Amino acid sequence: MSQGASSGGGTAGATADGYEAVIGLEIHVQLSTETKMFCGCRLSFGDEPNIHTCPICLGHPGVLPVPNRRAIEFGLLIAAALDCEVAPRSIFHRKNYFYPDNPKAYQISQFDIPLASDGRLNEVRIHRAHLEEDAAKMIHVGTSGRIQGSDASLVDFNRAGTPLVEIVTEPDLRSGAQVREWGQLLRATIKQLGVSDVNMEEGSLRCDANVSIRPVGSSELGTKTEMKNMNSFRYLERGVEAEIERQKQLLSAGGRVVQETLHFDPSSGELHSLRSKEESHDYRYLPEPDLVPLAPTPEMLEAAAESLPELPAARASRYRDELGIPEAAAQLLSFETEWADFFEGVLAHDEGVEPRVVANWVTGEFAAELRRQGDQELSRSKVSADSLGSLISMVAVGRISHASGKSVLESMVAEGADPRQVVEEQGLEQISDSGELEKIVKSAIEANPGPAEQVRSGNQKAIGALVGAVMKETRGRADGGEVNRLLKKHLDL
Ligand SMILES: [Zn+2]
Repeated sequence: MSQGASSGGGTAGATADGYEAVIGLEIHVQLSTETKMFCGCRLSFGDEPNIHTCPICLGHPGVLPVPNRRAIEFGLLIAAALDCEVAPRSIFHRKNYFYPDNPKAYQISQFDIPLASDGRLNEVRIHRAHLEEDAAKMIHVGTSGRIQGSDASLVDFNRAGTPLVEIVTEPDLRSGAQVREWGQLLRATIKQLGVSDVNMEEGSLRCDANVSIRPVGSSELGTKTEMKNMNSFRYLERGVEAEIERQKQLLSAGGRVVQETLHFDPSSGELHSLRSKEESHDYRYLPEPDLVPLAPTPEMLEAAAESLPELPAARASRYRDELGIPEAAAQLLSFETEWADFFEGVLAHDEGVEPRVVANWVTGEFAAELRRQGDQELSRSKVSADSLGSLISMVAVGRISHASGKSVLESMVAEGADPRQVVEEQGLEQISDSGELEKIVKSAIEANPGPAEQVRSGNQKAIGALVGAVMKETRGRADGGEVNRLLKKHLDL
């Protein structure tokens, strides 16, 4: 579970030095269809290079592209989830550019009439979302790993032609933290749709940020720079913050921002210029003559709307408003589908336990224990929702103490232990027989006359030593409130 996705979407952007940041995102989502966008080659990640190719995705002359129906359906699902308007007839264009990752010397994309436009996800408006195909993957080998400094570049065409949806936001974001939080929400939303793996490290979700600043109160946009393809939202947050700071210093010193593409190096915290935008290209978009306009049928639109699952933003509100879970925990749980499913599984175990208590265990003790034992992923955790549920129930009804619950949880995370069995084997059940507890309390008072006398003469704090003695004798199996009550009774307080 990522930490810190908690402070709510609208982080203030205006700063004390009189500038505000204006940030828009471009997100490329690789769709997890069986086959490529315009041919029947399989999609794969991590296979031997150049085995999933054919004359279409290698750009041989004389071949014809055929759109992937599933990719279009996935695109429509994304459009519906982002509350976009779908164009009755969107047009595929050829985006011309010359680069080794692009065998046709053009990419099939959409230009002036995209699949979807004018949407919104929480506080950020969606400008457009369109379908296109991915380029081949370039692997730069050699000393520095950067394009200019490498000895050779290899091309893997397995990726060429992978269906993509490119989502472009309006410049509605105002800080690096907001970029991270909103990006995590978008990722969770797309993951929930089941249309992409959204794995940033493997490149199935890639995010570019356009960053500019302007004086607070101004409605004009400043010159923007583009930050490319960070492989986590946490790095993107840091990169965006570094770029905002750099632009502020530049403008405050009377300089001007140059439009360029930047790379942020998370290890040094430095920004490097990749290429100046002035050199870049007119893509000479032209309508793709081999494809008819894309006109989704009413049935396709209906199917997309009807198959929308409960999305993370709605789930977060439900957790907060109906289950009474605090905002931070509600977001942590609902922005990651796996955690949400796990939480609901734990909740289902015992309807007598308050959802707020279950949420605390899941996002608090349990998530912390996973991290403490070597940052385990939830998907690989040995603890089932049902066994965590039964542990929480035992604590909730007072069968074991909270402290014992935490130590049982440790064995559950380490070995997948059954909590009921651990409680039995280690004799952790709280002493419910008040006669037995009363005996232990009396002998603790007799064995510690000093503290007992202090408490009697008004020093309330001295009772801690007596509580400690009882807990030691009972090995933590006594209810703290009950111990306190019995101590006070026998100290005549
Ligand atoms: Zn192919």
